[in-house]
This record gives sequence, C-alpha cells and structure tokens, in this order.
Amino acid sequence: MEEPKTLQQAILYFADPDRCIAYLAQSRWPDGVAVCPTCGRKDVSYVAKRRLWQCKSRHPKCQFSIKVGTIFEDSPIPLSKWLAAMWLIANCKNGVSSWEIHRALKVTQKTAWFMLHRVRLILGDDGGGKLGEVVQIDESFIGGKAKNMHKSKRSKMGTAYGQNGKAVVLGMLQRGGRVRARIIADRTRKSIEPVLTEHVEDGATIHTDEFPVYARLSDRYIHEVVVHAEAYVRNHVHTNGIENFWSLLKRGLNGTYVSVEPFHLFRYVEEQVFRYNNRATRENPLNDGDRFALVVSQIVGHRLTYKELTGKADARPF
Ligand SMILES: [Zn+2]
Repeated sequence: MEEPKTLQQAILYFADPDRCIAYLAQSRWPDGVAVCPTCGRKDVSYVAKRRLWQCKSRHPKCQFSIKVGTIFEDSPIPLSKWLAAMWLIANCKNGVSSWEIHRALKVTQKTAWFMLHRVRLILGDDGGGKLGEVVQIDESFIGGKAKNMHKSKRSKMGTAYGQNGKAVVLGMLQRGGRVRARIIADRTRKSIEPVLTEHVEDGATIHTDEFPVYARLSDRYIHEVVVHAEAYVRNHVHTNGIENFWSLLKRGLNGTYVSVEPFHLFRYVEEQVFRYNNRATRENPLNDGDRFALVVSQIVGHRLTYKELTGKADARPF
C-alpha cells in the first residue's frame, strides 16, 4: 500500500496498527535500526506478537512500544487515532477544533483537546536558526476574551493580556521565507528588542511600520519604515507577507476555536506558524502527506502531561 497523500488514504492506511508502527519506526529510525530509548542499545529485537521491542539490558522499560519517548507515551489512545488527528492538524488550513476531533475520531472532547495540545507542542520547533536578509516585523493584537475575566484570574495570565484584554503578538517574517511569532508583554522597546535579538540576525534589513518604538532600536539592523498607505508604491518595502500570516492566524482563532484560554494562546500561534512555514509554494511544493511526515518526524523527545498542560494536579485526561 502506497503512503497516503489524502485524508481518506491516511484513515485507511493507518487503520492497520502494524502499519502505524512501521510508519513511525521508519520516521524515528530512518536507518532501519531500532534504538532502546532508555539505554541507547541498538541490538534490540522486535516481538511482533506483542508489538514491542525488547532491550537486552536490564532496566525499567526494557520492553518498549513505539510510543515510549514520544508525545504518545502513556497514552492509551490507539495510534490510528493519533495519526489521523495529526493528519488533520498538519493540513487543515484554519486549524481543527477539539470538537471536530471528538466527532471524527470518537474520542471524548477532553481527550481530543489534550491530543491537540500534545501535537501543538511539537509544531513550535522550526530548528532553523535566526531570520536574516530582509525581515518584516509587525505586531498584532489577538483576543479580547480576557477583558470579561475576573481580575484575580486575569492576573494569573500575566502581562501578555495587559492591554485592553488583548495579547500582543510580535511577528517576524523573512521575505520569501519563514515566519516566527512570539507573544510579548506590550509594545515597548523593552519587550520587542530582546525578541528581535533572539530571532533576527545582526545586519539584517528590517521593515516595520512607523510605530515610534522601531525608530529607537539599536543600530544592529538596517531599518526601513513602511507607511501603510504607501506600501504598494515603494519598491519592495512592504509588510504584505506578514499581513497574510495575521489573517491566517485570526481566521483560525475566530472561526475554528470557540474559545482560547490566554494561557494556551502561544500554542495556537505555533500551530499557525507551522502551517504557514510549511505551506505549498512554487519552490517548495509540499503536499498533505509531506506536511504530515514533517509533524511525525518531530514526535520523539517531546512529552506533555495533562498536569503540565493545565497546572492541575488532580486532572486526568482519560
Ligand atoms: Zn535498553
């Protein structure tokens, strides 16, 4: 059976648990040699009947499934459902809600919510170093939900929701390349500059709007200001690219997700960043199967417990 390229093919393909394991093993150990996630031994043997690997060393978890050491660890949800959910998250342009996952995959909404967050955890890593050449910088205000919130609860959200109940997201887009986005406390130089230093190479040309904070940035960048009304007139100096990212982000947040707790906002932002950075372009004609494979390739080494996710010690997801 060929590797899936559409959702329908993916559902059929991953309905077979052995095929799920083979697909994940191939992604995790591309040279074909399984490695014990506990001690690193490479001479482990596969017990097909139990769908487990057996390590020759004596240590806890010397028998391990494909889930050990990945975002699936300790999850009783079958891989067929995990992989279908990952397919949806990787490929639905405006995002997919926990209610949709709940209905499509017959898991509880709470479980679906937890699955979504575990997958989002691995979408944030682009591992690609700093942005350079020409980088568009822009901020956007997201949400407003927090303004109806009780003061005591709002204070827990931290300063990111300080301004009229809206979060400030700083977007950075290398022209013709990747986008990064970070939630910042406010639109001050103190909040903006360290993020730029972390993500944008010295010597890069940055394009911003006329917001005064940018005029006072250090001279590590070549700074060009875009006056919005004139953006189409001036050659190449425009922030249209980042505007596209904002509309994608807002469409997802307004349309797909009924409510986003401010505490989780950064995960939704990362999800849209992943989709934007891995969208099909002429130079990079990724299809749905490629995008899915990218998500799968990052499952190792990431884990998130329900407790970590919610800050609640007593909550159990399943
Ligand atoms: Zn071992």
